[in-house]
Amino acid sequence: MTDVRVRFAPSPTGYVHIGGLRTALYNYLFARNNGGKFILRIEDTDRTRFVEGALENLIKVLDWADLEYDEGVFVEDGKLVEKGEFGPYIQSDRVKAGIYDKYINQLIEDGKAYYCFCTQERLDGLREQQKADGMMPKYDGLCRGVSLEEAKQRVANGESHVVRLKLPANTDIEFDDLIKGHLSINTNDIDDQVLIKSDGFPTYHFAVVVDDHLMGITHVIRGDEWVSSTPKHVYLYEALGWQAPTYVHLPTVLGQDKKKLSKRNADVAVEDFVKKGYLRDALVNYIALVGWSPESNQEILSHDELIEQFSFDRVSKSGGIFDVKKLDWVNSHYIKELSDQELADLIKPYLEEAGLVSEATENEKILNIASTFKTGLDKLSDIAEQTAFLFEDYKSEGYYDEVKETLVSEDAKTVLNHIKSILENEQMNEELASTIMKKVQKETGVKGKNLFMPVRAAISGQSHGPEMSHLFMVLGNKELIERLDYALNNF
Ligand code: GLU
Repeated sequence: MTDVRVRFAPSPTGYVHIGGLRTALYNYLFARNNGGKFILRIEDTDRTRFVEGALENLIKVLDWADLEYDEGVFVEDGKLVEKGEFGPYIQSDRVKAGIYDKYINQLIEDGKAYYCFCTQERLDGLREQQKADGMMPKYDGLCRGVSLEEAKQRVANGESHVVRLKLPANTDIEFDDLIKGHLSINTNDIDDQVLIKSDGFPTYHFAVVVDDHLMGITHVIRGDEWVSSTPKHVYLYEALGWQAPTYVHLPTVLGQDKKKLSKRNADVAVEDFVKKGYLRDALVNYIALVGWSPESNQEILSHDELIEQFSFDRVSKSGGIFDVKKLDWVNSHYIKELSDQELADLIKPYLEEAGLVSEATENEKILNIASTFKTGLDKLSDIAEQTAFLFEDYKSEGYYDEVKETLVSEDAKTVLNHIKSILENEQMNEELASTIMKKVQKETGVKGKNLFMPVRAAISGQSHGPEMSHLFMVLGNKELIERLDYALNNF
């Protein structure tokens, strides 16, 4: 096989869809798995969709995800630069360089494409009529009848026009897809695709074929939504006398409702997941599993394991469901793997944002919080809600509402008094934190629920939460004694 060359070819629209990240990831994994090249090409020929800063943002997301590419557009020292021998890698720059002109002229001269002068009104009217007649809306080919000589004259006179692909009638176009298998579609069901728009820009369909060919792309790996366009692309390759690449259309990323994951029904932007505190390795690991499973059936896979085990044989034909609960599970796994200090550094901004700690808060405190809450976090942003009780004023109204009843019994008073007296004499440390409850049990004879519930209630105002030993560590002697006192005096 010739050396694998694949590309991720997004249109920068302002954010990166989670499905786009998966497309980029599968391209990357396939390239690395085969010792090939991974290329980033920017498809920005639709000027109406141009968004300022979208390109830089896109590159930032790929960098964040660690999907290193070999050629294409990069940001260096805040500037866009290109690397590789097949540039430019931004389609609008390729338009300026006149790259598409030669090929559209070749198609026109060979009678494989034609100028079309139909106005928007005519096309709209045609579409309405066809719909009313219960037909599939399709260009009726009126301008196929204009001779090339006349067409050239009209173009020279400045008449507004597009260039369309001239598909042969009633011909089956066939191709093999590595995931979907053999596909065939008749040209009677395909429109004479516009290749050059009236603004002179190539459409996606034309540019993608020219660029993939000139860049030596061996495998086109992209979302399922493009499979219906592929026959046009296959025909274009043939019309230009080129060999088409191998096609790989990936199953759609679906939401829990089995509908295409979209902004309307869920979070879809990678940036949103980053903000919520999903770790890079977790999100990449999980998104790889949406529509693919390794032969090993592992669910936790490192970057290198993904590269090693990835193959299209195990990508499913039907859509993959994006399950946030499963993502949470994978993420919590990766959070548990972090050292306390790593987690402390990661949660600090979330605690600061919630106004719970400040820049000046000592590391020790955040470290304690990190080790205390590590096992219960699905994502970093959960930290603020889970730790709020530590920072809230326990004297404020409502703090103890949920657990008041637990604090009134004689046993409760005995336990709280006893624990308080221990804390007045001994400094909290890990040893004490893990033995103090046993000690209280032994010395007071109170055990089980009657022992644990009042203590947890008094020091946290909650009936459930992190392990007791962690709570002792994170609160420390002074705060613990104050809380115990308050509970003893007020209930
Ligand atoms: N520019 C297209 C997109 O944004 C790329 C489709 C393709 O990979 O051919 O999805």
